Amino acid sequence: MRRKLLEILACPVCKGDLDVEVEEENEEEIVWGRLICKSCGAEYPIEDGIPNMLPPELRETV
Ligand SMILES: [Zn+2]
Repeated sequence: MRRKLLEILACPVCKGDLDVEVEEENEEEIVWGRLICKSCGAEYPIEDGIPNMLPPELRETV
């Protein structure tokens, strides 16, 4: 995902702002990492450039 997306994305649980923890990125985008909600602390993995924005409680059942 591109860093710019961070300005648009919000936590699906509480609509809070997201922080990003980058594990791997290239010149265009964040490839691996995590998005962390500043308000409720929920974490959303970024896998292969795709942020998984499912709320944590839904993720387990999919
Ligand atoms: Zn949140």
